[in-house]
Amino acid sequence: MSASVQWDEKRLEKLKKLWEMGLPISQIGEKLGVSRNAIAGKVHRMGLPKRQSPIAGGNKAGASSPRRKPEATPILNRSDLPLKLALRNITWSRSKCSWPIGDPQSTDFHFCGDDVVTGKPYCNSHCFEAYTTNREGSGS
Ligand SMILES: [Zn+2]
Repeated sequence: MSASVQWDEKRLEKLKKLWEMGLPISQIGEKLGVSRNAIAGKVHRMGLPKRQSPIAGGNKAGASSPRRKPEATPILNRSDLPLKLALRNITWSRSKCSWPIGDPQSTDFHFCGDDVVTGKPYCNSHCFEAYTTNREGSGS
């Protein structure tokens, strides 16, 4: 009555995979077409790591997820970074001139940082520049 199970490599591999996926023994057995006991015995003999028994029920397994892939950190847009830093710099010093100096795409981009004219976002000279370089009255 003890029909021996044929454990070929394919089967073993599948068993290992399903085991690592956390499938209950009964389901692994179903998929491989062998009995639960055969699976349990094989797993034991293979020395596969023990898992939390799903039969025990209760989803209080908590923070013990078997495999967690480290998430790839998004690559920061290099040209974006200095601008953001500069903006943050300005936030804690709102009374500083926020006139952009240099190319926002380049790393040496920064803000003027001089004391602003009250009520304006820029310092004296940049205020002046802002209002004169505005091409508003181009027609005449
Ligand atoms: Zn300025």
